[in-house]
Amino acid sequence: MSILEASASVPAQELEAPTIAGLRAAFDAQRDAFAGDRNPTLDERRRRIEALIGMMLANRQRISAALSQDFGAHPVPASDLIEVLGVVGRARYVLANLEAWMAPIPRETDPAFLGTSRAYIQSQPKGVIGNISPWNFPFDLSVGPMIEMLAAGNRVMVKPSEFTPACSALLAEMVAATFDPTLVQVVTGGLEVAQAFSALPWDHLLYTGSPNVGRQVMAAAARNLTPVTLELGGKCPALLTPGSVSAVSVESVIGTKIIKNGQMCVSVDYCLVHRSEVEDFVDYATAFMHTAAPSYSRSDECTGIISTRHLERLQALLQEGRDHHARIVTLERDQEVDPTTRRMPMSLVIDPDQDLGLMREEIFGPILPVVVYDDLEAAIATINAGERPLGLYVFGDQAVADRVLAQTSSGGAAINTCAMQSALPSLAFGGVGMSGMGRHHGVEGFREFSNPRGVFVRGEGDMIDAFYSPYAKAAAVVQAVLSSGHN
Ligand code: NAD
Repeated sequence: MSILEASASVPAQELEAPTIAGLRAAFDAQRDAFAGDRNPTLDERRRRIEALIGMMLANRQRISAALSQDFGAHPVPASDLIEVLGVVGRARYVLANLEAWMAPIPRETDPAFLGTSRAYIQSQPKGVIGNISPWNFPFDLSVGPMIEMLAAGNRVMVKPSEFTPACSALLAEMVAATFDPTLVQVVTGGLEVAQAFSALPWDHLLYTGSPNVGRQVMAAAARNLTPVTLELGGKCPALLTPGSVSAVSVESVIGTKIIKNGQMCVSVDYCLVHRSEVEDFVDYATAFMHTAAPSYSRSDECTGIISTRHLERLQALLQEGRDHHARIVTLERDQEVDPTTRRMPMSLVIDPDQDLGLMREEIFGPILPVVVYDDLEAAIATINAGERPLGLYVFGDQAVADRVLAQTSSGGAAINTCAMQSALPSLAFGGVGMSGMGRHHGVEGFREFSNPRGVFVRGEGDMIDAFYSPYAKAAAVVQAVLSSGHN
């Protein structure tokens, strides 16, 4: 069935909320369709990905409008760059490489034992894959992984976040207008739908969100022995090694922090600065904000915090710092919070107590703790005292960065910048420990959503019958191997 056979554009508000039974029926329909189309050709997979590109480009302005609606305020160029062109670039990278990725991967055999036999890995579609996505990048995190899922020959169902109703409705509408529902389908809904979704017997399940919900999703998947990819959050540190505080490094830290107003899994959660350079850091950060984003929280540069509850949580984190007499530096002259668009000023918290909430929880907003250290080993120990983060950013020369990377663990890392490891379609993206498991993006994403079937092809001149009775033949082979010195 053609992917473009589906109905013409369905207005978002007319899409029915799914019932739990409807969800199961949609899943079963995808399974049946997969059973009749177990190994889509290269051309068919390419057509699917090209349709996805067309869908994103045709809806560019509506995507931007939906983001502004859900976030209260959302910079249009950031919507275009990250949520549309980032996804399109990722799809084009896959198109350019798909033929090579689909090819069998030859594996070595032992000619002395196996003669002319061959072996290879065949990347097979897994089947029907579920994707539970969060609110912070409603398109990038729902449509992005879909690219590698479709590239690997799978069918996909997406459950976007209930915190972004406009984006989720638009996503459902765009997908319904582009793909047959047995190939790609979006189901919207709240907790009840999310829980029913994670309990379906998927061939693979991707979850992106908080570690707490990640545990529940993994437990639900375990009941079906469904393999999971978990893309979780955590506290990503930026370590400015001694001598590395400069206008450029601080611009990178603060510039990254204000992308999406800090609501980004690979944002800088806290930074570590040598005691002798803390005041320089504060001066550079202030100068950057005054020049690059004056009146930041009143300007078009600033994304709104996703909900009043999330805004209040951030206010409470700052208030707790104030109550404990932490030094708080607000990086703009206007210090007011705008409750309508949920925008708040960007603040540094200098040398906070480690037991404050902002040092224990992922911040996910425009607050940056500056942790002060006296020597590099102590800074590394601070990083290692926390959970292994999704991203780690090191500023300094290559030798010192290598030293830091060798002594730490994180899902990804960037040297002399922040978060860019997540922006490359060629670079595996994912977490380790509490920041997640598994990878998407690039060839690792393709392999994550494929079954790596090992295939052995018998040739001639082998000794395979040594495995069969009578074992006298095996005894002779064992003797030959032992005396060859290759054991
Ligand atoms: P969220 O509240 O939107 O939840 C994410 C998804 O989980 C939603 O679709 C929701 O419906 C679903 N969900 C909620 N409870 C569920 C349950 N019990 N069972 C099944 N599904 C359930 O988003 P969030 O968790 O607030 O997202 C923010 C977190 O996501 C942060 O920790 C952030 O760091 C992390 N994150 C990670 C990545 C990454 O790639 N590693 C990317 C973005 C965000």
